[in-house]
Amino acid sequence: MSAVTVPHHRVAIVGAGFGGLGAAIRLEREGIDDVVVLERRDDVGGTWDANRYPGCACDVPSHLYSFSFATNPDWSRSFSRQSEIQRYLRGVADAHGVTERVRFGTPVEEARWDEAALVWRLELPGGETLTADVLVGATGALSEPALPDIPGVESFAGPVIHSADWPQDDSVLDGARVAVIGTGASAIQFVPRIQPRVASMDVYQRTPPWIAPRMDRPRPRVERALFRAVPGLGRLARESIFWSRELVAAAMVHAPWALRGLELIARAHLRAQVRDPALRRKLLPDYRMGCKRILISNDYLPALDRPNVDVITDGIAEIRPGSVVSRDGVEREADVLVLGTGFHVTDSPAAERIVGVGGVRASELWDGSPRAYRGTTVNGFPNHFLLAGPNTGIGHTSLVYMIEAQLDHVVDCLRELDRTGAVALEVTGSAQDEWNARIDRDMDGSVWTAGGCASWYLDRTGRNSTLWPGLAITFRRELRSFDREAYALHHAAPEVTFPGQAPADVTRDAR
Ligand code: NAP
Repeated sequence: MSAVTVPHHRVAIVGAGFGGLGAAIRLEREGIDDVVVLERRDDVGGTWDANRYPGCACDVPSHLYSFSFATNPDWSRSFSRQSEIQRYLRGVADAHGVTERVRFGTPVEEARWDEAALVWRLELPGGETLTADVLVGATGALSEPALPDIPGVESFAGPVIHSADWPQDDSVLDGARVAVIGTGASAIQFVPRIQPRVASMDVYQRTPPWIAPRMDRPRPRVERALFRAVPGLGRLARESIFWSRELVAAAMVHAPWALRGLELIARAHLRAQVRDPALRRKLLPDYRMGCKRILISNDYLPALDRPNVDVITDGIAEIRPGSVVSRDGVEREADVLVLGTGFHVTDSPAAERIVGVGGVRASELWDGSPRAYRGTTVNGFPNHFLLAGPNTGIGHTSLVYMIEAQLDHVVDCLRELDRTGAVALEVTGSAQDEWNARIDRDMDGSVWTAGGCASWYLDRTGRNSTLWPGLAITFRRELRSFDREAYALHHAAPEVTFPGQAPADVTRDAR
């Protein structure tokens, strides 16, 4: 039997979005260049490659929603559109030599911790295997589109379009009778874009979102030139946006009542944008602002007020091959179903593909309620680092900021391995429990638990396992110091063998 050589890398990163690219760049700076990035799509960008629905743009200002080490003086607008963010990411990946480390079209089918060899063993398509000392999961919290759990949804006979899987050719919408399900951050961006093209649009709203004005504007050439010419101006803009948003976080966590001020702005926005008082009543939320993501738009509410649009709030009883039936028994015909129904967040299928100590899958361990230490490491999963992991989500500021804070921690852990000569490091169960108990305490009384809404931030147990309950700066400060006592170290046996293989079959040196 001929020996099979299993390629080995120091670090395997899964995903080439903000998290995966940021990780590859940070590790390179740390002198770790034996890195492979495995990306299931054909381009970099992650969510900014997958989400291509009409109107897709960021609702965090670009000066903040970018890497701290790659500020961009040339953003064309204050809030960038999808294509520009993806171009930015391509540019950053090229400039830092990451693109050549990415294996595109390579979904990881399973990643399993090999307890004998102390490596991660990754199964790739076509029966290919590779191993890595360290596994960085950068698949994103919002990457697995969710279909609504409505009876008959799979029986719909016409085209079904999900916001995160928008077809390049969407001409089926032109002149069609369209049913839109969902009124979240994605829907409020695509609804105004497709409304003028369709014959009619029924928007099925389960919960109205709070919508504030979008203070977006093109950035004139002279402003961009100024940002190029004056070093530090981009950083100043970034800091001022960051701190103004931290004030909102303080209210969300400690004083939800203070968000009433923002509610008044959103109410005035609704009054100014929707003439029909009956429609306005449907669109006015009855929960505290911030309990769900605060949305910003100047064109969504007016689109709902157009004659070819109906907002249906009776709930959906059933979907039939050519229609949607609401709970009041009314059946409305539809040619195309457009879903803005979000993602599997706390029940992501990605967790089924990660197998830790004792053959336990992350999905089994978490059982729909994910927990980690510092949002990054998980007991039972040595040398595995999650980016944008449990309780690192943030509604008021840039997730890129949180990811960069996590990368500081990843680097600290890898330095500890180098310093001690250990092969693997694993967070202790007690450190993880203490961290989560503290998160739960801080969450108590916040707008997400006391705000009177149901949201995807809450998992199936009712726990908020998604958001960080505090200021972003607090998260960063906490992760800046390395807490050695939270981790147990694994040392390798003198000769490492892989089950079913002779040591010579593996290109990795035993340590
Ligand atoms: P989402 O916020 O989860 O919204 C899903 C929508 O579908 C909600 O209105 C929800 O109603 C509705 N829905 C789900 N299941 C339903 C069912 N069975 N019947 C009826 N309605 C149903 O998803 P999203 O809009 O795609 O946004 C997800 C996240 O992506 C955002 O919160 C944000 O973090 C991110 N995002 C960001 C940007 C950006 O600009 N940065 C843009 C788009 C998305 P309920 O509210 O009643 O649950």
